[in-house]
Amino acid sequence: VLDVPDVAVIGGGPTGSRTALQLAKCGYRVVVLEKRARIGEKPCCTGIVSRECAALYDIPSAVIFRQVNSANVYSPAGDCIHLFRPEIQACILNRSEFDRLLAERAASAGAEYHLSTAVKNICFSSVGIDIEAETNGKTVHYRPQVIVIASGFNTRLAKQAGLAGTGYFVHGAQIISTTKEIREVAVYFSQETAPGFFSWIVPLDQDRCLVGLLARSRPGLFLNKWITSLESRGIIRTDGASIYYGSIPLEPLKKTYGDRFLVVGDAAGQVKPTTGGGIYFGMLCADIAADALDQAFKHNDFSARVLRNYEQCWHRKLKNELKTGYYARKIYEHLSDHQINNLFTTLKQSGMVDAVLQQPDLSFDWHGGLLLKAVRMSAASGAKRILGLPSALFHR
Ligand SMILES: Cc1cc2nc3c(=O)[nH]c(=O)nc-3n(C[C@H](O)[C@H](O)[C@H](O)COP(=O)(O)OP(=O)(O)OC[C@H]3O[C@@H](n4cnc5c(N)ncnc54)[C@H](O)[C@@H]3O)c2cc1C
Repeated sequence: VLDVPDVAVIGGGPTGSRTALQLAKCGYRVVVLEKRARIGEKPCCTGIVSRECAALYDIPSAVIFRQVNSANVYSPAGDCIHLFRPEIQACILNRSEFDRLLAERAASAGAEYHLSTAVKNICFSSVGIDIEAETNGKTVHYRPQVIVIASGFNTRLAKQAGLAGTGYFVHGAQIISTTKEIREVAVYFSQETAPGFFSWIVPLDQDRCLVGLLARSRPGLFLNKWITSLESRGIIRTDGASIYYGSIPLEPLKKTYGDRFLVVGDAAGQVKPTTGGGIYFGMLCADIAADALDQAFKHNDFSARVLRNYEQCWHRKLKNELKTGYYARKIYEHLSDHQINNLFTTLKQSGMVDAVLQQPDLSFDWHGGLLLKAVRMSAASGAKRILGLPSALFHR
């Protein structure tokens, strides 16, 4: 079987569907190849996006569990910083429903979804591209003009296109449980519970919550340990629910385009290194990818020379932000629990938290400016000495 669309988008996650929507709206024949039988099946994601993202992408309340304007952040010793802003800061999405909504939007604009279709190989040659996919035991070939690789974290596909993968990533584990205790988003910093990252309890509705963590290795082991501790204190009940796993890249690919292809979303590493959030940045890059491809179609030129424009545009928008987040993450990874406890004390005593919360430009998504401000304030308040960090980090 052979299909010859204009564009093949590999992956029906948020970034694949957003790219498909934008290209279908331009009138191109787009097929989305998704290996799962159903869009939004078994996602491992907490689904937190900013108010800015929800507004920009017109995310309806039907796919939002709740909106939040506060969170409790805990130190390893249990010290709590209460974060609060009067206006809504973020939305907790029903990630499965959200993915389905984006796919429905793309399908309504004309994109075709080929489900249960796993891409096995992509062959690039001087005459074009050949995608070999497997669907219900049959082999299917696609020969599109151009492909968008939106297949999520660490699929082989970007490597098949000749790109080097990322070596810096984090693994996540999450479970749905019930709680009567936790009413606000709770984030826990502890190198013992979630080495290198953090853990969370995110209430979804009256009873249900997401309990999860990100760690550099063995997330299941750490989550099981934490769940046991939370259950023994009566904070949550998991009732034998299953743990879901997923991984997140923490730095972008060195190159995200080539002759006849672009890489978008988690596949390209377009993720905030501070939090691991990738939905918003991935969708912003999907829009940039669709614009770049529209230009390529108009000039009938799909060479790397033309598609390079995609990378230049998304770098202009996100590169500095990702770089600052990357350094912040590297600093955090090296802190001991003792240093994190000291940092919490300093933050509370210096009034820095209130000062930051009152900043008019405080943003849930754009952490770069805030991080630089925080570093300057920390340097002034002596946090550098408390953390025992090299001075060079504060003058980067
Ligand atoms: C524990 C955890 C919590 C998270 N919480 C948040 C959060 O609160 N907020 C946030 O913004 N981000 C969060 N993220 C990150 C977020 O889930 C990703 O950034 C987002 O899913 C990226 O979207 P994507 O479309 O690029 O990739 P994906 O959502 O991974 O979609 C890729 C799609 O490609 C398909 N696919 C893969 N290989 C093939 C193939 N060979 N052939 C065909 N189809 C294929 C997959 O089945 C999948 O449907 C979290 C991640 C984890 C692990």
